[in-house]
Amino acid sequence: MLERINFLKDEINKANYKYYVEDNPTISDFEYDKMFAELKELEAQNPLLITPDSPTQRVGSVSEKFLPYKHKYRLYSLDNTYEYDELEDWYKKIVKEYGETELVCELKIDGLAIALTYEQGVFVRGVTRGDGITGEDITNNLKTIKAIPLKLFEPVDVEVRGEIYMPKSSFEKLNEENLKNGEKLFANPRNAAAGSIRQLDSKITAKRDLSMFCYTAIFTGNVENLPKTHYESILYLKKLGFKTNPNVKLCNDAKEAIQYCQMWDEKRFGLDYATDGVVIKVNSLLTQEEMGFTSRAPKWATAFKFPPEEVTTTLVRIEESVGKTGAITPVAILEPVQLGGSTVSRASLHNFDEVGRLDVRIGDKVYIKKAAEIIPKVVKVIDDEEHFKRSVYTPPELCPSCGAKLNTHEDEVNLYCDNPQCPQKVCAGIEYWVSKDAMDIDKVGPSVIAQLYNKGFIKSAVDLYKLSMQDFMQLDLVKEKSAYNMFTAIQNSKNRPLARLLTAFTIRNVGKETANVLAAEFGTLENLMNASVEDLAGVDGVGEIIAKDIYEFFKKTENIAMIEELKELGVEPAPPAENVSDELKGKTFVLTGTLQNMTRDEASEKIKLLGGKTSSSVSKNTSFVIAGENAGSKLDKAQKLGVIILTEDDFLNMIKGKVL
Ligand code: NAD
Repeated sequence: MLERINFLKDEINKANYKYYVEDNPTISDFEYDKMFAELKELEAQNPLLITPDSPTQRVGSVSEKFLPYKHKYRLYSLDNTYEYDELEDWYKKIVKEYGETELVCELKIDGLAIALTYEQGVFVRGVTRGDGITGEDITNNLKTIKAIPLKLFEPVDVEVRGEIYMPKSSFEKLNEENLKNGEKLFANPRNAAAGSIRQLDSKITAKRDLSMFCYTAIFTGNVENLPKTHYESILYLKKLGFKTNPNVKLCNDAKEAIQYCQMWDEKRFGLDYATDGVVIKVNSLLTQEEMGFTSRAPKWATAFKFPPEEVTTTLVRIEESVGKTGAITPVAILEPVQLGGSTVSRASLHNFDEVGRLDVRIGDKVYIKKAAEIIPKVVKVIDDEEHFKRSVYTPPELCPSCGAKLNTHEDEVNLYCDNPQCPQKVCAGIEYWVSKDAMDIDKVGPSVIAQLYNKGFIKSAVDLYKLSMQDFMQLDLVKEKSAYNMFTAIQNSKNRPLARLLTAFTIRNVGKETANVLAAEFGTLENLMNASVEDLAGVDGVGEIIAKDIYEFFKKTENIAMIEELKELGVEPAPPAENVSDELKGKTFVLTGTLQNMTRDEASEKIKLLGGKTSSSVSKNTSFVIAGENAGSKLDKAQKLGVIILTEDDFLNMIKGKVL
């Protein structure tokens, strides 16, 4: 037991130094919190083993970079939980002792805590939290941040606490620049903010895009109508000229607080600043005073932390996979780790340039990150001593599937296998052909395609249409019924709309959206094949470059032969659906969130049948945003731009009786 306690203390202290002093953590917050919770639990079971130097008894750390400043009022950390049950228990205990209590929920900004002192409304000093008793005086650096008022609207004496943060978009830009210049990468916006504000040269801080949300005020002089609740003090801070976070909610009980946490767990990815949870505070300042503090945190507040957005794990190997265009993509194969509610064992590394920039080596500890609905990606390598002992990764020179020499294409960072017969490339192309966005042949999956290819039944997507039921029966584990299902699924795809066939062709730079535009504009495959570069470039959303790609695709003899063969096999796109009416002509819709009565694709079809258009992003030209459940950043943007927002019911009423 003592051994485990000492081990945890050591590990946490090491992590603290890396995080607070060097702004360069070597483990994720989630792992840190897990160790911290275990240490707290062990100490609670054995109070005699608690020592004053235990990390559970202290807050943060101070570096020696700046002049130390002893805080007049101590700064604390926050207790935290990842469980709603624990949040309810925390509230129940408060109610038992203090009666029904209002709570204030506010976003937990993942930045750096700062105390600002104002005398007679004038900014005189800004100090980091440090270890809570002593911080670093960084007044000059703070003066470069526009969100920090140098003079308040009222001449009050006040100490204000808040969080310095760097917007996510600025963090991405800063890391991109650092990558280019071979400088250190920051693990996340929090570390970037901490590293930027604690620069010895204020000019560097001034160049970094930093901001501050304020959330607490301690009034030290006379103030008329002193706030009596936390909620009132936030409003007062705003009135004095401070930037406060707009996402604050007054809640009657833990149930409402939990609902607020659940909502932000979904919506947080749409924000341009990092938030790692929701802080829940007792609203009455009098009750806060009665409740007081533990050695490191207030008893009247707690943080509900969101499941982590990023964790660390080990890179086992780099898989080089061949895509439908022949592009070779490096994929990180990882030691399985829990992230965002699922087990992750693969993550994107984009391309070999990125692998080189990250300097990722087999065996390295890496940070992986998953934003809403996005495939996990490797964002940073932990460059500890071990990293430098490992060999530098070199990209392949030969195709991992067919052994052909790999090439680069003009203006592109990818490596390509240009062998048209490369097995993995051909299979990837067929997988795309049958995919939901293209010909939508849902009964034929990757393993069936691989078997058909390996047995020599197919060499291209066209060959799918030559297969008989008997062919399918020869595959492993395929019985008559599934052979019939696969055979009919292929036959039924022969008359899919033109846009789907165009998508399936995998023309360079032509995805689903452009294929839709082309199909709507040209109507038939023949018209499109006869179009000149000028005709094509004149289409909305198709520029000169894409026009050339399309033109060249239809001039290649092998593509003309493929189209002929498809025709002979009965693959003929259905004529485009006529608009039922022009009811929605000139109107552009953006769909976001989950709809209850139809998929977003079905809603788009209906809009198009009524002459309207859909777009994937919100701008001032958007006529309507249809917001389903869990709508995210698009809804926020629509609200900001004042675009009309429709619920699914509003939309159904709008099109009632006009289209099925
Ligand atoms: P914390 O960041 O979890 O919570 C306390 C802090 O939250 C406060 O000091 C304040 O700065 C901030 N905060 C943000 N929004 C707030 C709001 N609206 N109201 C009040 N406070 C708000 O605690 P901490 O003591 O600063 O740091 C501990 C945490 O830091 C750990 O839980 C871990 O996540 C992380 N950490 C990570 C490592 C690592 O190696 N990865 C090392 C040390 C600490």
